[in-house]
Amino acid sequence: MDDVDKAQQEVEHQISTSITNRKLEDEVKAARPPVTKCIECEEVIPIERQLIMPGCQRCVTCKERSELLNKRINHA
Ligand SMILES: [Zn+2]
Repeated sequence: MDDVDKAQQEVEHQISTSITNRKLEDEVKAARPPVTKCIECEEVIPIERQLIMPGCQRCVTCKERSELLNKRINHA
């Protein structure tokens, strides 16, 4: 095997390794929900909360505040 063949093999090995890494990254990303930030204070909503309340857009603090505001509006 000459140096050119060796270099070629090295390149092919690197390419296939990076493809495998990318696949793994995709799998890891697919396994966990995307990071969601609170639409009001931009605090990252914890994954636990997202699992309990899928599609929630506010953190606990802002959710409670908006519920309080809604109650006040409804009772006014
Ligand atoms: Zn918030």
